[in-house]
Amino acid sequence: MVPTAVPRPPAHLRVVDPAKARAGAARRRRTGSPESPLALKRRARRINAVLAEAYPYAVAELDFRSPYELLVATVLSAQTTDVRVNATTPRLFAACPTPRALAEADEAEIQEIIRPLGFYRAKTRAIRTLAQKIVDDHDGEVPGRLEDLVTLPGVGRKTANVVLGNAFGIPGITVDTHFGRLARRFGWTAEEDPVKVERDVAALFAPRDWTDLSQRLVYHGRRICHSRRPACGVCPVADLCPSYGEGPTDTAQAAALLKYEFAPGREELLELFLAGRSRAQLQADGWPLSS
Ligand code: SF4
Repeated sequence: MVPTAVPRPPAHLRVVDPAKARAGAARRRRTGSPESPLALKRRARRINAVLAEAYPYAVAELDFRSPYELLVATVLSAQTTDVRVNATTPRLFAACPTPRALAEADEAEIQEIIRPLGFYRAKTRAIRTLAQKIVDDHDGEVPGRLEDLVTLPGVGRKTANVVLGNAFGIPGITVDTHFGRLARRFGWTAEEDPVKVERDVAALFAPRDWTDLSQRLVYHGRRICHSRRPACGVCPVADLCPSYGEGPTDTAQAAALLKYEFAPGREELLELFLAGRSRAQLQADGWPLSS
């Protein structure tokens, strides 16, 4: 019988002594001696630095070439995966390269193109209405200000910040489900309301760090700090996290929970990411990038 390999964490991840992680979590959970604002800020920035080493290739996982493409792709990504959206949008943007083209396109044709994403009738309506509004109110150009973006149909703060941060280079904090969960687990906020989470986290970091921080938290939430069983036993920020122990702390058990390019058996894919290959190149080479 061939022995089954024991799952191991990726070699580039910072290794944390479990005793140190346990002690740190216990100390930070002690209600009698709350962390000072300065200590909280320092710990938050240390977490960001460690996550930068863990995910040096973190970028927006939706493919785009312009604010228009990112805006539409973000709206389409509701209730589906970024990988699926990326497989669909090249055809959509080839058929409709501008907001005007999308607003004037044949509805049935758009439905057919985006059918694999689910809810394709509602999504077709949503992106065409959005495109029409951009044509009517902004002369066919996606606006580059938060206050204008949030007036577009179907565009909330989260989508607006994704577009500002990634397509316009304007710092933005994107509070999606992963970001909110991790910010609470890290003790950066106790709030559930995304606007209040954004406010609390913004106070801990310089604006120039907001966009990259948002990407890293989403990467960490998808690969390691899952909502149901976070892989605490292989987490590179375990000694900085008050929630250490919410998931398995055993190394092999935790490593078995890793996803995407961190998943056991995906070592070669991870090497390629770390060597600087882009998601688009890897996808073109036939690498499966889904979880
Ligand atoms: S995986 Fe565990 S230790 Fe790491 S950030 Fe999440 S809850 Fe904290």
